[in-house]
Order: sequence, then C-alpha cells, then structure tokens
Amino acid sequence: MYTLLVEVYLGVPFGYEPNAELKKLLEDFRDMVNFCIDYAYKRRITSYAKLRGGVYEEWKRRWDYSTHYCHSACKIALAMLKKHRKNKKEGKPEARKLFMQLDPQLYRFYGDKIRISVRPRQFLFIYLRFGEYQRKFIDAWREGKLKTGEITVNEDKIIIPFKREVDLQNPSDWIAIDINESNVTAVSSNPHVLRIEHELRTVHTTYFIIRRRIQKLARYKPKTAERLLRKYSDREKNKTKDICHKISKLIVEFSKEYGFGILMEDLKGIRKRIKRGRRMNRRLHSWNFRRLQFYIEYKAKLNGLPVEYVNPRGTSSLCPVCGGRLAPNGHRLLKCPRCGYENDRDLIAGINMLRMRGAPLPLKAINEDSNRAIRDGTGSKC
Ligand SMILES: [Zn+2]
Repeated sequence: MYTLLVEVYLGVPFGYEPNAELKKLLEDFRDMVNFCIDYAYKRRITSYAKLRGGVYEEWKRRWDYSTHYCHSACKIALAMLKKHRKNKKEGKPEARKLFMQLDPQLYRFYGDKIRISVRPRQFLFIYLRFGEYQRKFIDAWREGKLKTGEITVNEDKIIIPFKREVDLQNPSDWIAIDINESNVTAVSSNPHVLRIEHELRTVHTTYFIIRRRIQKLARYKPKTAERLLRKYSDREKNKTKDICHKISKLIVEFSKEYGFGILMEDLKGIRKRIKRGRRMNRRLHSWNFRRLQFYIEYKAKLNGLPVEYVNPRGTSSLCPVCGGRLAPNGHRLLKCPRCGYENDRDLIAGINMLRMRGAPLPLKAINEDSNRAIRDGTGSKC
C-alpha cells in the first residue's frame, strides 16, 4: 500500500448580480493588461520580474488599485504575448474581452458572495447566483473539504476553482471503461460488468438536423437564424453535459462501491477506432469522449479513486487470450479464429485493457450472470 496526495481542481461557474463598480474595475483591468502588453512588447520583455519592475511606477500613477492588480495584469499580459508568439502572429495581442483573474489574496469567498479588494481597505461585494450543482461545492467548502483557488471574473460569470487534496491509495481491483457510440461499458477482472446505454449520438444527430434546417433559413432571415443557432447549440451542449455527468456519476459510484481503480483508453488513439466517413459523428467522438473521460477522472479523484490510462491499440481487435486477430461473429460478438475465444465486443475492449494492466483473464461466465444494465435515468450532477 502507498499513499499518494494529489490536488484536484475543478472550475465551477457562478452567475452574479451585475454591478457598475465591478464593470468599471473590469474595464480598468483590461486597460492595465493592454498597457502591460504594450510595455513588454516594445522592450521585448518575457520575464515577469522585469515587466513588473518596469511598469510599476507608471502603473501606480495611472491606477490607484491594490498592487496585486499589477501582478495579475503583468501575468496575463505575458501569457497573452507568449501565446501570440507561439501562434506566430504579427504585432502584439490586445485584450478585448472583459475579464480578470484574482488570486486568493485579492478576494474572500463567503459561499453566497465574494468580497473583492479594490484598494487598501476598500472592498466590493459580489452576490453570487447558483443552483444545486454549485451548492454542493459551497457545502463541501463550508465543511472545510475544499479550498478555492485563483478566480476568473468576466462580464457575466465568476469561475471559482475548488481544490481538494485527495489520497489515492492502491485499489483492490481495476475496472476498465470502454466508451463507444451507444454505450459505456465498464468491466472489472473479478468480474463485474456495468453497461450504461446513452443517447449522446442521438442528441448530436437531432441537433445536427435542426442546425441544417436553420441554415436554410439564414438566406432570408440571417438574424433569426443566428439567434436560433445559438439557442440550439446551447441546448445541445447542456443536454450533452448532463448525460456525461450522469454516466460519470454512475461509473464512479459503482467503482467506489467495490474499491476499483479506473482504467481508460488514452484518447489519442480513439479516433482511429471509429469508422471513417461519418462526418456528422466525428465531432461527437473526439469531443464528448474527452468530456466524459474528464468528468469520470475528476469525480474519481474527488472520491479518492486512482485513474490510469492505457494505450488503446488493438484493444478492440485482438484476442485477450492468445493475441490473435478477432473476427465478427454475429450481432455484437467477436470470435478468435485461433483459440475459439468469443465475447461481446464492448467487453473485449475492457478485458484487453485489464490484461494490459496485468490482470488475470476474467471468467468466461462474465456475460451471463453479472450483466447490469443501467439506463440513463434520473440523478443529479456530480
Ligand atoms: Zn485467441
């Protein structure tokens, strides 16, 4: 047994009551960032200490805010310049959107509101809007289980990162998660199977068709079309996120119940596995698989479960017993022509992942008695 301390961060968005004072602060902060960009760009400065030392006097003359704003503006300016250089763009970048980042020294979190330091002994209170999802984090924070990190404030949202130190201990067993178009299948070597049928593909197809219809409208009513596109794209995103939250919640609860560590496929290879030519679904694959894995990983870590990634090469095409190439054998089944091993194709992917991690081959009876199908039903997030 070993103990591993890991810090887990999750950025949680909160709405807030608009506030003229805060708007002014955001506008001033944007000016500060552009001022720092200009200064660093002209003198080819890339180090924080040099920029901070160089701008400070002039910054103090122009803005009389707490000195921390100068740190933050310098940091953001350098990050923007670095990104600009990396993308090989000409000239200098410009901050256009209203946003600022505040480290824990510049604000205080009260659960339902945030107090921002503006100048020494001068504060600004922001009242947060939140739902059930955010409330869980606030409650855990009140109980001392979570700490807040550097917050991001923009025109309509405040993103608060909650962090927690978790103990990742050696799990008793591993469970391998195979994510595919119609279901998520989790297999452990002891053997347990959890299969969650999901509608991610249906959701994507439905909204794809809606979007195509709206695009026809764009010729006559471009403004209406634009508004509708935005509306339906938000709806799709919310629906997708909701499904991913539910699936990841089920998987993590199941793993926790049995003390499983979680194995997932390293996603760099996942696109190769999906048949080419399905233009419509490709976005779903790369993007939603990543989202789902991300949700599973952070929920697992919040619950103290370790997560590891394995190379997915051959997981769905090779025999877990002898390594031979599998051939389709009827609906959803794969069979090894060399040794005769046969199993459900989604289970085979998971079994191969377990084998890669050194687990013994699960019993053949895996299909018959331990199949548990859980449909995407009710359930709250996180
Ligand atoms: Zn075989």
